[in-house]
Amino acid sequence: KAKQHGRNSYQWYTQELNEKVNERLTLRSDIQKALEREEFEVVYQPQVDKQGKTVIGVEALIRWNHPEKGTISPAAFLPVAENTGQIFSINLWVMETACRYIKRLNDQGLTCPSVAVNISPMQFLRPNFIESVCNVLERTQLDASFLELEVTENALMEDAENAILTMYKLKKLGLRIAIDDFGTGYSSLSYLKRLPVDKIKIDRSFIKEIISDQHDAAITQGIISMAHHLGLPVIAEGVETEPQFAFLRKNHCDAFQGYYFGRPMSSEGLKAYLHQKQASPDEKKVRGTEED
Ligand code: C2E
Ligand code: MG
Ligand code: MG
Ligand code: MG
Repeated sequence: KAKQHGRNSYQWYTQELNEKVNERLTLRSDIQKALEREEFEVVYQPQVDKQGKTVIGVEALIRWNHPEKGTISPAAFLPVAENTGQIFSINLWVMETACRYIKRLNDQGLTCPSVAVNISPMQFLRPNFIESVCNVLERTQLDASFLELEVTENALMEDAENAILTMYKLKKLGLRIAIDDFGTGYSSLSYLKRLPVDKIKIDRSFIKEIISDQHDAAITQGIISMAHHLGLPVIAEGVETEPQFAFLRKNHCDAFQGYYFGRPMSSEGLKAYLHQKQASPDEKKVRGTEED
């Protein structure tokens, strides 16, 4: 394409490409420094039950508090970390930090029944992944039944046989596995039947227009019905409004996560949130502290 427009645009093109490459290199070394300087933070977003009242767990999400650039969202740096392989240490750091914190909360009597951690496709199929998970549980002393791993469909389909084997081994440890962003990948339904998963998370993109778009509503209803027929509970992510909550509830969705119930919050924020929930369990929603 660049060639068609002659020499000038070709130069412009390579210049832009160089800038991109440089940006990536900077990002790569910035990520390395961030790991060393502890600029990463784990935030926690609550997940609530059918009634929208009881906290059934939290999802751990990474944030980067960059000294100059401010907060950088995971979408901006995780793809780079995937390319450089830095994602492995980042994810294990998130897992360990989250497990340690949930263990501490539970020890303090602020019960949080589950913490979900996102696992990258590449990481899931690594030979030493199971061992890494064991090590984290060992080091943090968190009971495996508190840990949930979120894996996307594509991660499982890439090498389905291997993925199924890994899942069985992980489940033997006593943890749970959820399929994240369900509906956006290319998993075949016949495989889904064979996967030892515990939960399906409907992707936020379907929930967004669930009230105004008949197709999104239909897809969501279909996913819930299919999951239930397979004996799997469903959690909806990205629930922002009361009508969305009402629609999902009417259609027998089992659990919810989204700004309507609570934003991702700092560890201190989560502590306060759980405190308040325990003190007044009927309080329907307590806003988190993170600003988006
Ligand atoms: P995800 O796992 O699907 O996480 C849900 C995302 O939706 C989070 O974005 C969360 O902040 C956002 N969200 C939750 N409720 C709402 C809502 O009501 N409205 C809107 N508009 N958004 C909502 P976040 O934290 O920016 O993370 C984006 C993605 O980055 C995550 O999607 C996950 O795939 C990935 N990610 C985040 N942390 C980690 C991590 O520690 N490891 C790995 N491998 N991936 C991570
Ligand atoms: Mg997730
Ligand atoms: Mg998701
Ligand atoms: Mg999503």
